[in-house]
Amino acid sequence: DLKDKNKFEGTWRLYKLGVPVDKDPGKDFLEVSDGLLEAIAKVLEFPVASLLPREAFTVVRKSFDARKKLKEPKFVHTVDMDVKKLLSLEPRTWDFISRLEPKVGLVEHMDDARDFGDLMSIIHDCKENNQDVVTGDDGNRIFSGDLYQTRATRKPKIAVVGSGPSGLFAALVLAEFGADVTLIERGQAVEKRGRDIGALVVRRILEIESNFCFGEGGAGTWSDGKLVTRIGRNSGSVLGYWCALKVMKTAVAFVYILRPMHELNSLSVMRTLVQFGAPKNILIDGKPHLGTDRLVPLLRNFRRHLQELGVSIKFGTRVDDLIIEDERVLGVMVSDSADRLRVNTQKMDFDAVILAVGHSARDIYQMLLSHNVVLVPKDFAVGLRIEHPQELINSIQYSELASEVHKGRGRVPVADYKVANYVDEQDGHGLSDSRVANRSCYSFCMCPGGQVVLTSTSPSELCVNGMSFSRRASRWANAALVVTVTGKDFEALNYYGPLAGVEFQREFERRAAMMGGGNFTVPVQTVTDFLDKKLSVTSVPPSSYRLGVKAANLHQLFPVHLTEALQHSVVAFDRELPGFISKEALLHGVETRTSSPIQIPRSADTYESTSLKGLYPVGEGAGYAGGIISAAVDGMYAGFAVAKNLSLFHGDI
Ligand code: FAD
Repeated sequence: DLKDKNKFEGTWRLYKLGVPVDKDPGKDFLEVSDGLLEAIAKVLEFPVASLLPREAFTVVRKSFDARKKLKEPKFVHTVDMDVKKLLSLEPRTWDFISRLEPKVGLVEHMDDARDFGDLMSIIHDCKENNQDVVTGDDGNRIFSGDLYQTRATRKPKIAVVGSGPSGLFAALVLAEFGADVTLIERGQAVEKRGRDIGALVVRRILEIESNFCFGEGGAGTWSDGKLVTRIGRNSGSVLGYWCALKVMKTAVAFVYILRPMHELNSLSVMRTLVQFGAPKNILIDGKPHLGTDRLVPLLRNFRRHLQELGVSIKFGTRVDDLIIEDERVLGVMVSDSADRLRVNTQKMDFDAVILAVGHSARDIYQMLLSHNVVLVPKDFAVGLRIEHPQELINSIQYSELASEVHKGRGRVPVADYKVANYVDEQDGHGLSDSRVANRSCYSFCMCPGGQVVLTSTSPSELCVNGMSFSRRASRWANAALVVTVTGKDFEALNYYGPLAGVEFQREFERRAAMMGGGNFTVPVQTVTDFLDKKLSVTSVPPSSYRLGVKAANLHQLFPVHLTEALQHSVVAFDRELPGFISKEALLHGVETRTSSPIQIPRSADTYESTSLKGLYPVGEGAGYAGGIISAAVDGMYAGFAVAKNLSLFHGDI
């Protein structure tokens, strides 16, 4: 009905818009190219693509799809369409719009989509008018609070222990709420940490407290910086977290923060990262990644911002113990992390302690246990890191298009992969042991154009992971191939109790160190020899790992049922990616720290530990996240929960 134009207002989201490689404009993720307009016209069944006004469309997601079942590889887009702007078309096209109906799976009417810019201006107006009661578009009260009154009283003192993604985001939220935040980090700031990692990679000097796991930015700093997460991305209704922070010093900012609290998620984190220097395309790219070279300056900006907000940041300071009275945490004992024996400890009082220590802080688990904090063992996964020449992965994934990759400078992204296999009872045919079955094997933390790095935190233990730079230009592609392990596996090796999983990890890290012969040399085996259960006696293919590799019987590293599950799955992966089993593919031992081996139970609402008041376990080490983005999101939520518990705001939301 053309008389009722309002019917056609709002935003419609168009999905699965494929643009062939030769019609893609290159790396400008935001461009609505001619190729994209054609794809839009096709989905909308609009006859003349060039008549569609470009300004009516905004790219919200773009990813490369080269799956074999497609006729040709494509860039696949999700696009938001402003229907009002389409109405600016000549009247003839109105008729077309009147016929526009949502098509399941391709088009969705974003009823509650809100325009980011509009909300910014609402906030701005409220700020100008110094309003502290804010109404929504519909006139309903969104937020009212006595924030200013609260601020006048003593600021709550909060310790955030750990400056990984979860700790940084928790500190950010709490500082914006006006808390007196101290961020305590056992490792060093990125500048010094970079030098320590350099000394490790070049001179084999492992700084126990400043390495690939410990230091500013946490475990994810010298990483591939993949920003993908399984917790789901946003919907159009997610509001900009960063925008809230910009005006957070006013009560009205809470409109942004508190009202959509249940909606804050990975996109909110991503927007914050963009404000700290990440490229905008991470908001759109289907597989966003940063790379170490971008993460380091981003973290510096993050640090500066926290300091401007008054956060006291203590690098090289390790939390050794909690001060507990009447079953409540009253503070922490800290020492200079260079003080290995923890002799000169210092007491620091806090109203709340956010524990964001990651899963390599095994001393913290031990300390918590000594205070009877409940720790629950958790399933995780262990395995080996496989490395192929990147060119091989490019050609497996892209066939002839592989020549377009040009070491990350081309139009086509450096190829990655993700494989998974469930070994079930039937698959178990021919397997030696029933314990092989009912396990998942999967690739994890795949780093295209990256390198294998040492993530040990002790010289007697050896474990690896992968990192890359933003261009992903190295000659190698690496990924962990891991198999799930449970309490039964820990018990089979006589490890019981809450820390059984940690001991299980340690066992294989020590075995790997021994197999490598010490000095951080990594034991390796070609994937073909791993399947044939024989030592790679002839020269092993080159590895990106900088501290040297040594041929070893990796098929003897894990219990036989885990090895068989891996072997069985590698064969399945080769069926999916023919060429995956190759003499050039080298397995590295050992990948153990895929996720936390324990969980520290906490209340779902308050985020407070269920066994110790005033303690807030967050992030990966607490068993509530896995990966950079999910850890950041967890930290962000924890920040809100703690702010609420400590009455940093009293408001109706
Ligand atoms: P962490 O990042 O582990 O941070 C914990 C911090 O607490 C550390 O800085 C540590 O020094 C500090 N700390 C520990 N104990 C104490 C103490 N007693 N006192 C003071 N400070 C303490 N994830 C991805 O999503 N994408 C990737 O590409 C990716 N690549 C990775 C590559 C590598 C090499 C590694 C090691 C990890 C990678 N990860 C990746 C995983 C990701 O880094 C983690 O999931 C994420 O960092 C977890 O965040 P977190 O804040 O929970 O803990």
